[in-house]
Amino acid sequence: MTTNSDDKKPKQVLLTYAVVAVIVLFLLNIFVLPGLMERSIVNTTYSDFLDGLDKKQVKEVQFDIQDYVIYYTAEKDGKTVICKTGLINTDDALVQQIRDSGAVLTSEIPTQQSPLMSLLVGFILPTLLFVFLGQMLFKKMSQSITGGPGGAMAFGKSNAKVYVKSSTGIKFSDVAGEDEAKELLTEIVDFLHNPQKYRDIGASMPKGALLVGPPGTGKTLLAKAVAGEANVPFFSISGSEFVEMFVGMGAAKVRDLFKQANEKAPCIVFIDEIDTIGKKRDGQIGGNDEREQTLNQLLTEMDGFDGSKGVVILAATNRPDSLDPALTRPGRFDRRIPVELPDLDGREAILKVHARKIKIADNVNFREIAKAAAGASGAELANIVNEAALRAVRDGRRFATQADLEESIEVVIAGYQKKGRVLSEKEKLIVSYHEVGHALVAAKQTNSAPVHKITIVPRTSGALGYTMQVDDGDHYLMSKEELENKIATLTGGRSAEELIFHSISTGASNDIEQATKLARAMITRYGMSDEFDMVAMEAMSNQYLGGDASLTCSPETQAEIDKKTVELVRAQHAKAMKILQDNLPKLHEIAKYLYEHETITGDEFMDILNKKPEAIADVQGV
Ligand code: ADP
Ligand code: MG
Ligand code: ZN
Repeated sequence: MTTNSDDKKPKQVLLTYAVVAVIVLFLLNIFVLPGLMERSIVNTTYSDFLDGLDKKQVKEVQFDIQDYVIYYTAEKDGKTVICKTGLINTDDALVQQIRDSGAVLTSEIPTQQSPLMSLLVGFILPTLLFVFLGQMLFKKMSQSITGGPGGAMAFGKSNAKVYVKSSTGIKFSDVAGEDEAKELLTEIVDFLHNPQKYRDIGASMPKGALLVGPPGTGKTLLAKAVAGEANVPFFSISGSEFVEMFVGMGAAKVRDLFKQANEKAPCIVFIDEIDTIGKKRDGQIGGNDEREQTLNQLLTEMDGFDGSKGVVILAATNRPDSLDPALTRPGRFDRRIPVELPDLDGREAILKVHARKIKIADNVNFREIAKAAAGASGAELANIVNEAALRAVRDGRRFATQADLEESIEVVIAGYQKKGRVLSEKEKLIVSYHEVGHALVAAKQTNSAPVHKITIVPRTSGALGYTMQVDDGDHYLMSKEELENKIATLTGGRSAEELIFHSISTGASNDIEQATKLARAMITRYGMSDEFDMVAMEAMSNQYLGGDASLTCSPETQAEIDKKTVELVRAQHAKAMKILQDNLPKLHEIAKYLYEHETITGDEFMDILNKKPEAIADVQGV
């Protein structure tokens, strides 16, 4: 698949080979061969030697005075063995004894090997080995030159995999949701199929399209689907494959990739995780030379070919803000295709796509599952479906059910149930009140989403229990009031503990973290405080990977922001306290129910909450 007309390369390779061969030969001679020869000498004791003399088995003897060793050959089981033993004394008595036994005293170390043999082992064998190895290498090299798979010595060649036609087997129908992205990509596929249609009007295709979005939303999958749909060659390479140890290698790979692409046009080139090579060049001293060269080469190549030829470049990243601006300017990656987290419909569709691959009960309500899995990415949804299938197998069932899916949402979000951990009765009670506190505050605030499920089964993630909230639809905007309610809900757990037990526990650390984050964002980014009006105090980076915020204001303002944040959270905490105080009977009742059942669904929760007060008078025993 790779072609190479550059005849300098074989010479280079030959040189490398020769150097390697010499080094290996050298090492072989120093370490391996002496060992080989040594091995045929048997170590014996001095007594053995004397016994041998007595039994007249010793044939030749040689003293090595320097090393204090005796070498001798002895007859054993009809074979002649070379033995070695320590030299204790060389007095005349010993010499006489040797002579009496009929052995010969020699001056040479006896060797078993004939000179021919040592020549063979020491010289001819390694030479043959290297001739053989060399031939194999050259075969590989010539393969890569004449179109075989790239050899180990194919430095500076791109190792892009080429897909022709739908060898990946993935089609657009395998990608659920993401309709906008699919539409934009379909246009590109269509252009590659009938370029004339576009030329007639005078439109030219974008040279490159950049898929951006959080991890697991299907960027790589979309690119593969494009390969499946387009009947043109598809080069797929990951950004990290350009990163080489030697400066200039990555650039050579880019050159090679584009050369191949130009030859195969019309075709698609897909560079996954492009941020590895496309990072901003920041002019730091001692910056990454290799990476910058690779990027420069990429920029040059993208300018170099003309779009009408039909080479389309797709790239994917989840760190678009770290890309070099030169890369994203029109004329290079001029089309940006957002691949966002799926909405409710999208989640339902993705669940259905993946459910096709497993055996599942007919009456599964995917919409319910999709609702409960708010905020999950495509990859997480795929994982949820697979977990459900695994659970079914574990329970010895033939197909997965609704319950399997529901449990696997919790597994994916909160980890497996921790079977071994047993909460003490008191802890269980505290956790019950804590979780019901969250739910009650959420339900009582008009704008808060209802609860889907509350459980107090400990999870491997460390959560002792949790409240799953469900949005009925998707929210794209959040009002100030909604955000405040959310903070109030987060403080609801701790409020319930305070109210009932008059003491507080460590169980609210995650709630506190989230509440603080929200409150801070309201002040520094959403312009929701009176004081700072519409001034941004924080800059966000890496929005798809969790989001790192850095303050961009004076220390005095920072102190002010901290004060405001505390005020905001405190106010919501007080509000949550008040809601719980006003609904104390319900809090007791639902917490008791949860304590006994360990899990309560949203419907059960609402039933108890909406029951007439007189109906609960006799139930309330807490
Ligand atoms: P990334 O955006 O990080 O490149 P991938 O494309 O590798 O994510 O997606 C990982 C997996 O998640 C896919 O192999 C697929 O099983 C699943 N997945 C993600 N998004 C979708 C989607 N829209 N439709 C179907 N499956 C999806
Ligand atoms: Mg990917
Ligand atoms: Zn909590």
